[in-house]
Amino acid sequence: MTVTQPQLVLADRLAAVEQRLRAACRRAGRARDEVTLVAVTKTVSPAIAALLPALGVFDLGESRPQELWRKVEALAGSTHAVRWHLIGHLQRNKIERTLPLAHCIHSVDSLRLLEALERACPACRPAGSRLDVFLEVNASREANKHGFAPEEVAALAPALLPLKNLRIAGLMTMAAYEEDPEHCRPTFAALRQLRERLRVAVGSAHPLQHLSMGMSNDFEVAIEEGATMVRLGTVLFEGLES
Ligand SMILES: *Cc1c(COP(=O)(O)O)cnc(C)c1O
Repeated sequence: MTVTQPQLVLADRLAAVEQRLRAACRRAGRARDEVTLVAVTKTVSPAIAALLPALGVFDLGESRPQELWRKVEALAGSTHAVRWHLIGHLQRNKIERTLPLAHCIHSVDSLRLLEALERACPACRPAGSRLDVFLEVNASREANKHGFAPEEVAALAPALLPLKNLRIAGLMTMAAYEEDPEHCRPTFAALRQLRERLRVAVGSAHPLQHLSMGMSNDFEVAIEEGATMVRLGTVLFEGLES
Protein backbone atom coordinates (compact mmCIF):
# COMPACT_ATOMS: atom_id res chain seq x y z
CA MET A 1 0.00 0.00 0.00
CA THR A 2 1.44 3.41 -0.92
CA VAL A 3 0.85 6.54 1.12
CA THR A 4 -1.49 7.99 -1.48
CA GLN A 5 -3.91 5.10 -1.20
CA PRO A 6 -5.49 5.25 2.26
CA GLN A 7 -8.65 6.89 0.98
CA LEU A 8 -9.22 4.05 -1.48
CA VAL A 9 -8.41 1.41 1.10
CA LEU A 10 -10.82 3.00 3.54
CA ALA A 11 -13.57 3.29 0.96
CA ASP A 12 -13.21 -0.43 0.16
CA ARG A 13 -13.21 -1.45 3.79
CA LEU A 14 -16.23 0.71 4.57
CA ALA A 15 -18.09 -0.85 1.67
CA ALA A 16 -17.25 -4.34 2.93
CA VAL A 17 -18.29 -3.46 6.49
CA GLU A 18 -21.50 -1.90 5.19
CA GLN A 19 -22.39 -5.19 3.46
CA ARG A 20 -21.79 -7.08 6.69
CA LEU A 21 -23.84 -4.56 8.70
CA ARG A 22 -26.72 -4.90 6.26
CA ALA A 23 -26.57 -8.68 6.28
CA ALA A 24 -26.55 -8.79 10.10
CA CYS A 25 -29.50 -6.39 10.28
CA ARG A 26 -31.38 -8.49 7.74
CA ARG A 27 -30.77 -11.70 9.72
CA ALA A 28 -32.05 -9.97 12.84
CA GLY A 29 -35.11 -8.50 11.10
CA ARG A 30 -33.86 -5.00 11.88
CA ALA A 31 -33.60 -1.88 9.75
CA ARG A 32 -30.07 -0.80 8.83
CA ASP A 33 -30.68 2.67 10.24
CA GLU A 34 -31.17 1.25 13.74
CA VAL A 35 -27.41 0.67 13.93
CA THR A 36 -24.80 3.44 13.97
CA LEU A 37 -21.24 2.68 12.95
CA VAL A 38 -18.77 4.44 15.25
CA ALA A 39 -15.33 4.39 13.63
CA VAL A 40 -12.71 3.99 16.35
CA THR A 41 -9.75 6.06 15.18
CA LYS A 42 -7.44 5.45 18.16
CA THR A 43 -4.80 3.63 16.12
CA VAL A 44 -4.59 6.06 13.20
CA SER A 45 -3.33 9.58 12.65
CA PRO A 46 -5.60 12.62 12.55
CA ALA A 47 -4.95 12.74 8.79
CA ILE A 48 -6.52 9.30 8.32
CA ALA A 49 -9.40 10.12 10.66
CA ALA A 50 -10.02 13.27 8.64
CA LEU A 51 -10.82 11.16 5.56
CA LEU A 52 -13.91 9.64 7.16
CA PRO A 53 -16.53 12.39 6.88
CA ALA A 54 -16.10 12.61 3.12
CA LEU A 55 -16.74 8.84 3.07
CA GLY A 56 -20.01 9.31 4.95
CA VAL A 57 -18.82 8.43 8.47
CA PHE A 58 -19.52 11.18 10.98
CA ASP A 59 -19.41 9.25 14.25
CA LEU A 60 -15.82 8.85 15.41
CA GLY A 61 -14.65 7.21 18.62
CA GLU A 62 -11.53 7.66 20.73
CA SER A 63 -10.64 5.80 23.90
CA ARG A 64 -8.16 8.29 25.40
CA PRO A 65 -9.32 11.80 26.28
CA GLN A 66 -6.01 13.43 25.26
CA GLU A 67 -6.17 11.77 21.86
CA LEU A 68 -9.77 12.91 21.44
CA TRP A 69 -8.69 16.50 22.18
CA ARG A 70 -5.85 16.20 19.64
CA LYS A 71 -8.08 14.85 16.88
CA VAL A 72 -10.88 17.34 17.54
CA GLU A 73 -8.36 20.09 17.01
CA ALA A 74 -6.90 18.50 13.89
CA LEU A 75 -10.33 17.99 12.31
CA ALA A 76 -11.78 21.33 13.39
CA GLY A 77 -11.34 22.76 9.89
CA SER A 78 -13.39 19.96 8.32
CA THR A 79 -16.50 21.23 6.57
CA HIS A 80 -18.44 18.24 7.89
CA ALA A 81 -19.74 18.08 11.43
CA VAL A 82 -18.15 15.18 13.30
CA ARG A 83 -19.66 13.64 16.42
CA TRP A 84 -16.92 12.52 18.80
CA HIS A 85 -17.64 9.55 21.06
CA LEU A 86 -15.43 8.98 24.08
CA ILE A 87 -15.32 5.20 24.50
CA GLY A 88 -12.55 4.78 27.12
CA HIS A 89 -11.95 5.60 30.74
CA LEU A 90 -12.36 9.27 31.66
CA GLN A 91 -10.30 10.49 34.61
CA ARG A 92 -12.11 13.14 36.58
CA ASN A 93 -9.34 15.70 36.05
CA LYS A 94 -10.00 15.50 32.30
CA ILE A 95 -13.74 16.13 32.47
CA GLU A 96 -13.62 19.87 32.08
CA ARG A 97 -11.65 19.79 28.85
CA THR A 98 -13.49 16.80 27.38
CA LEU A 99 -17.13 17.75 27.95
CA PRO A 100 -17.28 20.65 25.49
CA LEU A 101 -15.87 18.40 22.74
CA ALA A 102 -17.68 15.10 23.17
CA HIS A 103 -21.02 14.24 21.57
CA CYS A 104 -21.45 11.45 24.10
CA ILE A 105 -19.54 9.33 26.59
CA HIS A 106 -19.84 5.54 26.33
CA SER A 107 -17.63 4.74 29.28
CA VAL A 108 -19.20 5.94 32.52
CA ASP A 109 -17.81 3.27 34.80
CA SER A 110 -18.51 4.52 38.34
CA LEU A 111 -21.04 6.50 40.33
CA ARG A 112 -18.29 8.94 41.25
CA LEU A 113 -17.70 9.72 37.59
CA LEU A 114 -21.42 9.97 36.91
CA GLU A 115 -21.85 12.49 39.70
CA ALA A 116 -18.78 14.48 38.66
CA LEU A 117 -20.15 14.71 35.11
CA GLU A 118 -23.54 15.87 36.38
CA ARG A 119 -21.86 18.64 38.39
CA ALA A 120 -19.51 19.70 35.57
CA CYS A 121 -22.10 20.00 32.80
CA PRO A 122 -23.50 23.47 33.52
CA ALA A 123 -20.07 25.07 33.15
CA CYS A 124 -18.96 22.98 30.14
CA ARG A 125 -22.05 22.47 27.97
CA PRO A 126 -24.53 24.77 26.24
CA ALA A 127 -27.37 25.71 28.59
CA GLY A 128 -30.28 23.29 28.51
CA SER A 129 -28.51 20.58 26.52
CA ARG A 130 -28.21 17.30 28.38
CA LEU A 131 -25.13 15.18 27.78
CA ASP A 132 -25.78 11.65 26.51
CA VAL A 133 -23.88 9.07 28.52
CA PHE A 134 -23.75 5.27 28.60
CA LEU A 135 -23.14 3.14 31.65
CA GLU A 136 -20.28 0.75 30.98
CA VAL A 137 -20.96 -2.76 32.20
CA ASN A 138 -18.25 -5.34 32.70
CA ALA A 139 -20.59 -7.99 31.39
CA SER A 140 -17.80 -10.46 30.70
CA ARG A 141 -16.50 -10.00 34.29
CA GLU A 142 -12.85 -9.61 33.33
CA ALA A 143 -10.61 -8.29 36.10
CA ASN A 144 -8.74 -5.88 33.78
CA LYS A 145 -11.89 -4.13 32.55
CA HIS A 146 -13.65 -1.03 33.80
CA GLY A 147 -17.38 -0.93 34.36
CA PHE A 148 -20.21 -1.78 36.70
CA ALA A 149 -20.71 -5.41 37.60
CA PRO A 150 -23.90 -6.75 35.97
CA GLU A 151 -25.59 -7.26 39.36
CA GLU A 152 -24.94 -3.60 40.27
CA VAL A 153 -26.85 -2.16 37.34
CA ALA A 154 -30.44 -2.45 38.54
CA ALA A 155 -29.49 -0.86 41.88
CA LEU A 156 -28.26 2.27 40.04
CA ALA A 157 -31.79 3.43 39.25
CA PRO A 158 -32.26 5.65 42.35
CA ALA A 159 -29.00 7.47 41.50
CA LEU A 160 -30.12 8.04 37.90
CA LEU A 161 -33.56 9.48 38.59
CA PRO A 162 -32.43 12.89 39.92
CA LEU A 163 -29.90 13.60 37.14
CA LYS A 164 -30.74 16.87 35.39
CA ASN A 165 -27.75 17.44 33.13
CA LEU A 166 -27.14 13.92 31.93
CA ARG A 167 -29.32 11.66 29.88
CA ILE A 168 -28.65 7.94 30.23
CA ALA A 169 -28.63 6.94 26.58
CA GLY A 170 -27.94 3.29 27.18
CA LEU A 171 -25.48 0.64 28.26
CA MET A 172 -22.08 -0.20 26.81
CA THR A 173 -19.95 -3.31 27.05
CA MET A 174 -16.91 -5.00 25.57
CA ALA A 175 -17.14 -8.74 25.17
CA ALA A 176 -14.09 -10.87 25.93
CA TYR A 177 -12.11 -11.75 22.82
CA GLU A 178 -13.27 -15.07 21.43
CA GLU A 179 -11.89 -17.01 18.49
CA ASP A 180 -15.51 -17.82 17.65
CA PRO A 181 -17.64 -14.66 18.09
CA GLU A 182 -20.69 -16.85 18.63
CA HIS A 183 -19.33 -17.29 22.16
CA CYS A 184 -19.88 -13.53 22.74
CA ARG A 185 -23.62 -13.90 22.29
CA PRO A 186 -24.46 -14.51 25.96
CA THR A 187 -22.57 -11.33 26.94
CA PHE A 188 -24.57 -9.24 24.47
CA ALA A 189 -27.87 -10.87 25.39
CA ALA A 190 -27.12 -10.18 29.06
CA LEU A 191 -26.52 -6.48 28.35
CA ARG A 192 -29.83 -6.26 26.52
CA GLN A 193 -31.65 -7.83 29.46
CA LEU A 194 -29.95 -5.46 31.91
CA ARG A 195 -31.05 -2.56 29.76
CA GLU A 196 -34.67 -3.78 29.75
CA ARG A 197 -34.70 -4.07 33.52
CA LEU A 198 -33.11 -0.68 34.06
CA ARG A 199 -35.60 0.86 31.65
CA VAL A 200 -38.48 -0.36 33.74
CA ALA A 201 -36.81 0.97 36.88
CA VAL A 202 -36.16 4.50 35.56
CA GLY A 203 -39.37 4.90 33.56
CA SER A 204 -39.45 8.05 31.49
CA ALA A 205 -36.56 9.74 33.31
CA HIS A 206 -34.00 8.42 30.79
CA PRO A 207 -34.39 7.05 27.28
CA LEU A 208 -31.93 4.10 27.55
CA GLN A 209 -32.51 3.53 23.84
CA HIS A 210 -28.99 2.40 22.98
CA LEU A 211 -26.85 -0.67 23.34
CA SER A 212 -23.24 0.16 22.50
CA MET A 213 -21.73 -3.26 21.86
CA GLY A 214 -19.82 -5.05 19.13
CA MET A 215 -16.26 -4.53 17.91
CA SER A 216 -14.38 -5.78 14.85
CA ASN A 217 -14.35 -9.37 15.99
CA ASP A 218 -17.96 -9.71 17.08
CA PHE A 219 -20.14 -6.90 15.70
CA GLU A 220 -22.45 -9.10 13.67
CA VAL A 221 -23.42 -11.17 16.68
CA ALA A 222 -23.88 -7.93 18.66
CA ILE A 223 -26.29 -6.62 16.03
CA GLU A 224 -28.24 -9.86 16.13
CA GLU A 225 -28.57 -9.30 19.90
CA GLY A 226 -29.78 -5.71 19.58
CA ALA A 227 -26.71 -3.44 19.31
CA THR A 228 -27.59 0.09 18.18
CA MET A 229 -23.97 1.29 18.09
CA VAL A 230 -21.03 -0.82 16.98
CA ARG A 231 -17.50 0.47 17.64
CA LEU A 232 -15.14 -0.64 14.89
CA GLY A 233 -11.41 -0.04 14.69
CA THR A 234 -9.28 -2.92 13.35
CA VAL A 235 -11.63 -3.96 10.56
CA LEU A 236 -11.43 -0.43 9.12
CA PHE A 237 -7.92 0.72 9.91
CA GLU A 238 -5.61 -2.28 10.16
CA GLY A 239 -2.33 -1.51 8.41
CA LEU A 240 -3.12 2.16 7.83
CA GLU A 241 -0.69 4.85 8.92
CA SER A 242 -0.65 5.57 12.65
C1 LIG B 1 -10.38 -0.10 20.59
C2 LIG B 1 -11.79 -0.19 20.99
C3 LIG B 1 -12.77 -0.60 20.08
C4 LIG B 1 -12.45 -1.06 18.66
O1 LIG B 1 -11.93 -2.36 18.72
P1 LIG B 1 -11.58 -3.17 17.37
O2 LIG B 1 -11.50 -4.58 17.84
O3 LIG B 1 -10.28 -2.64 16.88
O4 LIG B 1 -12.68 -2.95 16.42
C5 LIG B 1 -14.09 -0.61 20.51
N1 LIG B 1 -14.43 -0.24 21.76
C6 LIG B 1 -13.52 0.15 22.67
C7 LIG B 1 -13.97 0.56 24.03
C8 LIG B 1 -12.16 0.19 22.32
O5 LIG B 1 -11.26 0.59 23.22
